[in-house]
Amino acid sequence: MTDDRYSRQELFRPIGEEGQQLIKKKHVLLVGAGALGTGNAESLVRAGVGKLTIVDRDYVETSNLQRQQLYSELDAQKKLPKAIAAKYRLEQINHAVKIEAHVLDAAWTDLLELAGETDLILDATDNYETRLMLNDVSHKLGIPWIYGACVGSSGMTFTIIPGETPCFQCLWNKMPTAGGQTCDTAGIISPAVGMVVSYQTADALKILVEDKESLSGKLITFDLWQNTHTAIQVRKLKSSSCPTCGTEPTYPYLSAEHTMKTAVLCGRDTVQIRPAVKKNLHLPDLNAIFTTQGLPVQYNHFLLSVEMNEKRMVVFEDGRVLIHGTNDVAEAKKMYHRIFS
Ligand SMILES: [Zn+2]
Repeated sequence: MTDDRYSRQELFRPIGEEGQQLIKKKHVLLVGAGALGTGNAESLVRAGVGKLTIVDRDYVETSNLQRQQLYSELDAQKKLPKAIAAKYRLEQINHAVKIEAHVLDAAWTDLLELAGETDLILDATDNYETRLMLNDVSHKLGIPWIYGACVGSSGMTFTIIPGETPCFQCLWNKMPTAGGQTCDTAGIISPAVGMVVSYQTADALKILVEDKESLSGKLITFDLWQNTHTAIQVRKLKSSSCPTCGTEPTYPYLSAEHTMKTAVLCGRDTVQIRPAVKKNLHLPDLNAIFTTQGLPVQYNHFLLSVEMNEKRMVVFEDGRVLIHGTNDVAEAKKMYHRIFS
């Protein structure tokens, strides 16, 4: 292959050949491989980032295909974990980028370990619990992170540089929220995703080429259907008493009590159960057990899906289980113990 692959990006003056060399040396941690995650991943891999580590806890479903740009109908049929399906596709797009995929509901300990050797953390999660952990990880390690969120036709993004900008905690205490709306209750259109991805990837490139002066430092919000767009100066929100970015940080989200075990996945009619200690399940054995019981099972190298009592359970190798069709934690736990006791 000729080496003109990045010629248009190098012609762009703020990057240039020097910037391209910097991009190639950098390692990005991407947390979440849904709509925002696949958009950011594709842009960064096409831009020639050196290494991308992807963490995601979910698998591909048909309802994802409208906006999660790396996935195909075949991925949904096979119920491939998103991190794995994303890795396969990204390797086809640019073989020179090292892609590391983790099928994982990341606890703070995982995030701290995975972020350790990276230059930048990209938030493409769908929940505040993980964002607050990322915020602490970022400040503890001194690594920038880029917050992004979208729902309906609206979105929000902010780039956090430890020691310079206010952190997510500082903002979160004072920020307007989307009233608890999620894309599972309010829906989402793909242009809203694309807009947030564009802001996130542009700031990512600025950070990777070490051009921090070009960051706006503003909280961006927009609604593409209401035709509104704001860029809010938030510098004054930085608080010296903040437990994450203040003068005496305690990193409150990096503690045992935030190792989530059971969670109702918001708006998805799904309960997730994560064992306190990771297991190492042999899925073919489980498959054999369920098949003998006459239960409908489907499995691949990474997960097993079984229907039981009009609910569907998805079991991952590390022992994590998603129970679809219920929001009742007690009922979900009962089903879990039927299998693992
Ligand atoms: Zn703060």
